[in-house]
Amino acid sequence: MNILVTGGAGYIGSHAIRQLLEAGHFPVVLDNLSYGHRNTIPNNVPFYHVDLKETDRIAEILREHHIEAVMHFAALISVGESVQKPLLYYRNNTAGAVSLLEAMERVGVKRFVFSSTAATYGEPEEMPIVETTKQQPINPYGRSKWFVEQILRDIAATDPKFGFAAFRYFNVAGASEDGTIGEDHQPETHLIPLVLFAAMGKRNNITVFGTDYPTSDGTCVRDYVHVNDLVTAHVLAVEALSDGDARFYNLGIGYGYSVREILDTAKKVTGKEIPTVFGLRREGDPAQLFANSDKVQKELGWQPQHTDIDEVIASAWHWHSTHPNGYAVS
Ligand code: UDP
Repeated sequence: MNILVTGGAGYIGSHAIRQLLEAGHFPVVLDNLSYGHRNTIPNNVPFYHVDLKETDRIAEILREHHIEAVMHFAALISVGESVQKPLLYYRNNTAGAVSLLEAMERVGVKRFVFSSTAATYGEPEEMPIVETTKQQPINPYGRSKWFVEQILRDIAATDPKFGFAAFRYFNVAGASEDGTIGEDHQPETHLIPLVLFAAMGKRNNITVFGTDYPTSDGTCVRDYVHVNDLVTAHVLAVEALSDGDARFYNLGIGYGYSVREILDTAKKVTGKEIPTVFGLRREGDPAQLFANSDKVQKELGWQPQHTDIDEVIASAWHWHSTHPNGYAVS
C-alpha cells in the first residue's frame, strides 16, 4: 500500500517507516523538520519537507504517489508548552490535521490512522482506562488531539467511504532493536530518556516529581509501551481498515510501573548510579494511568512483544549510550 507518513522523521514515525518497509508497503514521508531528523529516513523513501498547513502541496503529493492511506504522526507533544502556547498547539495539532484531511478529501484518500493520546482522558475516574472511559482532557495538548478525534467522527458520519483508526497512546518508550534509531526530542521531557541521561552523566541528576501519591511507593505509575509494539498496531490498522470504520483504541500494555521502579530498572540495566532528587509533584500529573487494551488485541490481533520494562529500558539505553547526542553528528 502507498502510505503517506506525516512526522515520518520523528521518534514514532521513523520506527513506523521501518516497519512499513518490512511489511512490503511504500511509505512516503512528509515532515517540516521542526523536530524531526532527516537522517532517520532511508534513501529509498521519498521525503517532502512540507508543513501540514500546505494543503495544496499535500494534495499534490497524495496525487503524485497514488497514496491510499495516511498515518498522521506529525504533532507537537509537550503538555507544559501547550499550557503556555495553546494557539500553537491548536494550529499545529488541530488545524494541521484539518489541512491534511482537506487535502485527502480533495484527492479522495479515504484511510487515516491517527496518533491520539491518553491525555484525551485527563484525570480519569476509573483505572484501567477503557475506550469508553469519559474523555475530559485537562490541557491544550490533550484537547488539541481530542478535537481531531471529534472531527474524524464527523467526517466518518458524512462519508461512508472514509475509514479511520485513532490510537490513544500511553507512555511510548524504547528504541529499535539494532539501536540505530531512537528518541531524540529537543528539549527532552520524558522520564526514561532523562533517567538515562543522568546515568550517562549528560545531566547532573533526575528529579522525581512527587513521592506522596497514593501508589504503592508514592511515585506516579505509568503504562510504558514499546515504540515498535505501538507502531505494529498502526500497521495492523492500516491493513484492516475498511469503509465506514471509526475505530478508537488504547495503546498500552495494561499495567504500569512507578517512577521508582523505572529508576531501579535503569540502574540495573545500565550498571550506573543515577543521582536522584526527590521533588514536588508536577502539576496535572494523575497518580496512575494505565490502559485496558483488550479492544485492540481482540479487533486487530495486537499483542505487545516488549512488556518487560528491563527490555524496554535496555533498548532505550542501547540507543542513547551509542548516540549520546542523538542524531546530531557527534
Ligand atoms: N517524571 C519525573 N521526572 C521527570 C520527568 C517525568 O518524575 O523529570 C514522571 C512524571 O511525573 C510522570 C512519569 O515520570 O509520572 C512519566 O512522565 P513523562 O513526562 O515521561 O510522560 P507523561 O506521563 O507526562 O506523558
